[in-house]
Amino acid sequence: MSPARHTRTRVTVRVPAKVNLELVVGPARADGYHDLSTVFHAVGLYDEVTVTRAPQWSVQVRGPYADRVPTGPENLALAAAHRLAQACPGGEPVAISIDKEIPVAGGMAGGSADAAATLVACDLLWGMDAERDLLDAVAAGLGSDVNFALTGGTAIGSGRGERVAPVLGRGRYHWVFAVSDEGLSTGDVFAECDRLRAGEQIPAPEPSPVMMTALRSGEPAALAAAMSNDLQEAAFSLRPQLREVLAAGLEYGALGGVVSGSGPTVAFLVSGPEGALDLAVALTASGAAHDVKRAVGPVHGAHLVETPRVS
Ligand code: ATP
Repeated sequence: MSPARHTRTRVTVRVPAKVNLELVVGPARADGYHDLSTVFHAVGLYDEVTVTRAPQWSVQVRGPYADRVPTGPENLALAAAHRLAQACPGGEPVAISIDKEIPVAGGMAGGSADAAATLVACDLLWGMDAERDLLDAVAAGLGSDVNFALTGGTAIGSGRGERVAPVLGRGRYHWVFAVSDEGLSTGDVFAECDRLRAGEQIPAPEPSPVMMTALRSGEPAALAAAMSNDLQEAAFSLRPQLREVLAAGLEYGALGGVVSGSGPTVAFLVSGPEGALDLAVALTASGAAHDVKRAVGPVHGAHLVETPRVS
């Protein structure tokens, strides 16, 4: 352990949002979850999580979506800090401050991202130097997307999504996100997916060859054509106006679009930075989306920052 670790009183970790380039949903399991095959992709929309030594555990959230995030024990960042303290000796109370840019309940795994950032931040603050296997085990117990937020990049997720294997792809992709003003519950969207597929024979999920080929090519147009999401119809069923958002983005020049995870954020892939700006302006002017954000991907998973956005 380096002496520097012992002297830290505060650590800030930046963590990206995710979009699912592909989401294949298998049959419902006995435990209520679904086996998935997904291609996660980390994009440059970031939350920053700062942990500071404190007399008692607490969490506060700031940013445009702060009022939608719980600040009690159900906050995933607080849950993450508690779990790591239980798993490793030396975990003492921290005050957690989340500077939130990732939309809440938007299908971009913001809560999971905060949990992953908190694990990395507490590990550094407490000087634990925890093995990656331990962080992964704690992450898997917190939620299906937490492991990917630790990893970042582009990766295949299996199991409930918690088993993550990096994909060696090429390319840097430009994204525009149409954000809704009201979230969708992940549980509700899976339940609707089950309802829509009732009676169908659902095969075991696996990555599609067309997606793997597209990622190897690094071609945005190939990736746009390969994107798919088995939860998209369920999200449309619960929020019919999302069909119009998707149609608007395609009409305004996106190469492709897909509902991100369980939605309601719609992710549009464009050809480059100019295309991203044009699409963002058009979507904003049309009023099709409550908020419009741009980002590039892939980016790194949860990582230390020396200069936080807000100190
Ligand atoms: P996913 O794509 O992983 O299913 P999501 O992006 O749709 O998730 P989140 O932003 O993770 O949704 O939020 C889901 C719910 O989790 C929110 O409604 C919120 O009440 C709760 N939550 C708990 N902790 C947090 C947190 N730190 N940040 C955001 N939401 C949190």
